[in-house]
Amino acid sequence: MEEMPRRIDPSTDRAAAAVLLGCTPNQVGYCARCQGLTRRYGPTAQVVCAACRAAEAAPSADGSAG
Ligand SMILES: [Zn+2]
Repeated sequence: MEEMPRRIDPSTDRAAAAVLLGCTPNQVGYCARCQGLTRRYGPTAQVVCAACRAAEAAPSADGSAG
């Protein structure tokens, strides 16, 4: 089974998102793609969230339209 990182909804509390992301609340910011919460600031910042990165890296085996 593959584990796809979950997008963190922007309505999520920053403190809770920080716990999920393993960073501090002041490092939490919006993903450049999906506007979900990601570790946007700091030395290990990711402008694009883990969910978007995973979606990009994954082979396009999804046959569903849309
Ligand atoms: Zn994203």
